[in-house]
This record gives sequence, structure tokens and C-alpha cells, in this order.
Amino acid sequence: EEEALIQSEKLSVAGQMAAGIAHEIRNPLTSLIGFSKFLKTKIDQYHEYFDIMLVELDRINSIVQEFMALAKPQANQFRKHDLVKIIQSVLTLLETQAILRDVQIVSRADATSAELLCDENQLKQVFVNVLKNAIEAMPSGGVITIDMKLHQQSELIVEIIDQGIGIPHDQLPKLGGPFFTTKDSGTGLGLMICYRIIEGHRGRMDITSTPQKGTTVSIFLPRNV
Ligand code: ADP
Ligand code: MG
Repeated sequence: EEEALIQSEKLSVAGQMAAGIAHEIRNPLTSLIGFSKFLKTKIDQYHEYFDIMLVELDRINSIVQEFMALAKPQANQFRKHDLVKIIQSVLTLLETQAILRDVQIVSRADATSAELLCDENQLKQVFVNVLKNAIEAMPSGGVITIDMKLHQQSELIVEIIDQGIGIPHDQLPKLGGPFFTTKDSGTGLGLMICYRIIEGHRGRMDITSTPQKGTTVSIFLPRNV
């Protein structure tokens, strides 16, 4: 118990440092990206090198952005929100991306008492990350199902079920570790942030998966209301 507490405190100090460093990197990075784009239009040669630079800069940019989202200690804004509305707003955000990839998202998240005490923006980020992973796991399209259940009035359970490539059994323990990614342009930070945010809400997140069949991410959130 105590060991786990120390671990999570260490994690949060590391997270805050990382977020601080990320913040410092952002401004010089923005000017590097801007000038690289500008020079590409001014120089007739070497466009392929500029393209590589821009792809790599973009990758650094995603990593920096995800780290900045990691630690916002005072930004924790716990209020009463409707989880159905939070999920719906995330779906609006991801609709185009899903359609482009032939993915249909079916939300059965229509529980009547889905109110809970939470940080709305943090939870949105969790659902964006999990749903993006689900979409990315289905290169030839498919259906993502979102289910919501109320457990004994005290806990909301959201399940995000995809029909994607799945996760090999031996990789399951690595999920949520910093920089664990199997994608060419992945950061391997999305799930780490999800675990952190859910922990901050005193909830938990479970991932089960069958290779070639799909993955289910279950998120348990106490309502505290
Ligand atoms: P990233 O998406 O940048 O790779 P994440 O932390 O979001 O980083 O995910 C880490 C890894 O977990 C992914 O690279 C992928 O291998 C695996 N993963 C996560 N969600 C899914 C999913 N729904 N289906 C298959 N693999 C997944
Ligand atoms: Mg991801």
C-alpha cells in the first residue's frame, strides 16, 4: 500500500517536471516548425528533406503536447457533470476521423443518472485517447461500441469495445508505460495519461483484448455524488 503511494507520488513529481520541460520546449519548437515551412517555400531544392524535418518536428510536437497535458496540479476542476454529455461531445470531435476510416461508433451511453464529480476536460481527454486508439486499431473499418452502466448508484462503468487488431497477450502489461507504442507515428503516451487521469478520479481502467478480434477498455468511475 505505502509502496504504491510512494510510487504514485514519484510519478506525479516526474509528470510535473516533464510538463514543465515540455512547456519550455514548445516555443522554440513552434518557431522551428514555422521557419521550416517558410524555408520550404523559398528554396526550390531539398523539399524531401524539409518534409522529413516537418514530420519529425510534428512528432516532437505531439509528444510535447501530451506531456503538457500530464500535470496541471491546480487545474483540477472537479464539478458535477453528466458523463453522457461528455462522451457525446467527444464523439462530435472524432466523427470526421471515424467516417474517413470507415468506422462507425455506436453509443449506448444513455444512462439516465450519469452525473458524477469529475474534471470534464480531463475525462474528455481520456475518451479521446481511448477512442483514437480504437479507430487506429481498425485499419479497414468496423464498429466501436460504447456501453455505459450504473453500478449500485455509486459507480459508472464505461466500456469501449472495438473490432480491431487486438493486443498480443504479452504486450498487455506494457500498456500505459511511457513511450510504449507499436505505431510508426505513435507517442506511447496516450494510455499513460488515461491511467493517470482515471487514478486522479479514484477510478480504474482495465484493458482486455483478443488478437484479430478486438479490444475492450473498461473505465470504472466513482460518482461521489
Ligand atoms: P500510441 O497510440 O501513441 O501508440 P497509446 O499509449 O495510446 O500510444 O497506446 C499504446 C499502445 O497500446 C498502442 O501503440 C497499441 O499497440 C496499443 N493499443 C492501445 N489501444 C489499443 C486498441 N484499442 N487496439 C489495439 N491496440 C491498442
Ligand atoms: Mg494512442
